[in-house]
Amino acid sequence: MEELTTEVVVAGAGPTGLMLANELALAGVDTSVLERMHARTGLSKALNFQPRTAEVLDLRGLLPRAKDRSFATVADGHFAVIPVSYAGWDTRHPYQLGIPQAEVEAALEERLAEQGVRVRRGHELTSFVQDADGVTITAGELRIRAKYLVGCDGGRSTVRKALNMPFEGIEGQGHGVSADVLFKATPPGAPTQWRSMTNMVTSQSPGKFVGVIPLAEPNLYRISFGDRLNRPENLHAEVTSEEVERAVAERFGPEAQIAEVRWASRFSDDSRLAANYKVGRVLLAGDAAHIHFPAGGQGLNLGIQDAMNLGWKLAAELRNRAAPGLLDTYEQERRQVAADVLHNVAAQNALIPTTPNQLALRALFRDLAALDQVQHHLSGLVSGLAIHYATTESHPAAGTRLPDFQTPQGYASTLFHKGNWVLLTKTPTPAPHPEVLVAQTPNLPYPNAEKLLVRPDGYIANTTGETKTWLT
Ligand SMILES: Cc1cc2nc3c(=O)[nH]c(=O)nc-3n(C[C@H](O)[C@H](O)[C@H](O)COP(=O)(O)OP(=O)(O)OC[C@H]3O[C@@H](n4cnc5c(N)ncnc54)[C@H](O)[C@@H]3O)c2cc1C
Repeated sequence: MEELTTEVVVAGAGPTGLMLANELALAGVDTSVLERMHARTGLSKALNFQPRTAEVLDLRGLLPRAKDRSFATVADGHFAVIPVSYAGWDTRHPYQLGIPQAEVEAALEERLAEQGVRVRRGHELTSFVQDADGVTITAGELRIRAKYLVGCDGGRSTVRKALNMPFEGIEGQGHGVSADVLFKATPPGAPTQWRSMTNMVTSQSPGKFVGVIPLAEPNLYRISFGDRLNRPENLHAEVTSEEVERAVAERFGPEAQIAEVRWASRFSDDSRLAANYKVGRVLLAGDAAHIHFPAGGQGLNLGIQDAMNLGWKLAAELRNRAAPGLLDTYEQERRQVAADVLHNVAAQNALIPTTPNQLALRALFRDLAALDQVQHHLSGLVSGLAIHYATTESHPAAGTRLPDFQTPQGYASTLFHKGNWVLLTKTPTPAPHPEVLVAQTPNLPYPNAEKLLVRPDGYIANTTGETKTWLT
């Protein structure tokens, strides 16, 4: 039995676990990442960054390397396949970045290695016990003693189950399949560029859908198809080639010739949220804490932002710099965000019509969605840009994201590359805490504020510069 001691064990090297490990390593926290798979599978369930995810990666200087691995920039998002524009938001990234999940993982793992942390592959967490001082984790022949354990181990999380954590929600009725299909030649009528999701999804009969997205390689397409009213008995059964062929024929006609199905996997419209994200010294993040139908492309984005919220708080706790209750705000803030996403996904599911009345409702909703204010509201939901964490301060900026803007030192986002706090101030001000970087700037995105104290995850803590609520 190999024995190890570390500060934090992250179980799972998906996008959430890798982002969290990066955040912890940046803060100098000794971190071990356990991953049960021996090698990355190359499967790419998710294909996009929403605008807020692009912003948070930019806060760490990670966006350029993600862009290098992306294959499309899509001008809009969608809500139940009704287009929503991000143009009304004050953001430098009003687009979806088309990037396969495997590339997100590769980019994050590369950065993690640069920070000196290597993923321990082929190590499946099987059990743990926690006490007042730490957690003892078993993964095969490896036993690790850590101060904290974070379960980033996906929708069927071992960590969540071992906690006996209720995973509350709705068992859906439908299901879908996603597959990456290489064709012998471009199928008739197939789009060659991903311009908008709304041009990609068709429905031949009520409740059914087929969506298609051209990927980076010629003639390689993501095909997603499903039925909102029916599901197979076994949701984990292997996808058959007949199923994929049927969907391809339905979308492109019988002439479309498949050369290879790279991978195929099922998903459901179950919707569940963990009752708690923290039990003692064990926390949950990403799909381990929430699952939902992949409507609007939000799941991976939620996970990366969970990690961004948790990393600096956990580091502050470990360094005895956290004000009492700081770590608890992770659950308070992020569970509400996930609940809101589950809610908007449920609304999107309801807008996929199965009856004539629902068709009429969808048509009416589509008209409403064209109104500027409705567009803004819907795009705020799916993009992550509308997130507003509760604070005690009444100024409208408090609890919202800092829109990126030019300061004399460059874009404000660059001030956060080390994972630090930033005080943006119009007048010379001493640092209120050693953790805070002070940046003087003649302008702020909120004209009626003289200063903005901004958390390491880019959310405005307050307009007073007071740190006591957060840091000791
Ligand atoms: C078909 C489909 C399409 C999707 N499309 C989108 C989209 O367009 N946009 C979007 O944002 N999201 C999308 N999603 C959701 C997105 O894929 C997930 O939200 C995302 O993968 C969650 O990341 P994660 O790191 O939390 O979990 P996972 O990606 O599931 O990673 C968990 C990791 O933990 C490992 N693991 C599991 N158990 C253990 C253990 N006991 N010990 C050690 N390691 C373990 C696993 O091997 C895995 O590597 C889609 C999902 C599906 C199914």
